[in-house]
Amino acid sequence: MKRRSIDKRYIFFRDMQKCYYCHKNLKLKQITLDHYLPKSMGGTDDYFNLVTCCKRCNKYKARTIPVDVEEVHMKFLIQAIVDGKITTSIKNVKSISLIHLINRITFVESKGSISEIRGEDFPLYIEKNRVIRADGKVMDYLVGGNQIED
Ligand SMILES: [Zn+2]
Repeated sequence: MKRRSIDKRYIFFRDMQKCYYCHKNLKLKQITLDHYLPKSMGGTDDYFNLVTCCKRCNKYKARTIPVDVEEVHMKFLIQAIVDGKITTSIKNVKSISLIHLINRITFVESKGSISEIRGEDFPLYIEKNRVIRADGKVMDYLVGGNQIED
């Protein structure tokens, strides 16, 4: 099976064609992608953990956990779902149904290659930009398309 490659162009335009760190305007061919949470700290290759970075900033970036990593992950996760860049590989679940969950997501945590996405009444698990498992009430919702009761 062919490995799904990262859409570098998507990240570049999402980040307004600028380096995420120094805000320098860049051309697509000049960019590198940086793991916002470093891989050595458990950061993944998912869209919500990749930012546009100039070569200079990538060279000097500290290998530490950024203070706003949770907010940045949340923001880019929600955007990636809305933009259809996070899909599902769960049988009978349409990727579009993920959009209805975005207001319910409260927390993202990366653990090695898998990230756990939590809401009030569910966890979702994402690997390589795909939802690989969903537990709790959310599964019925994703399959059936029913509204979750508040
Ligand atoms: Zn830069």
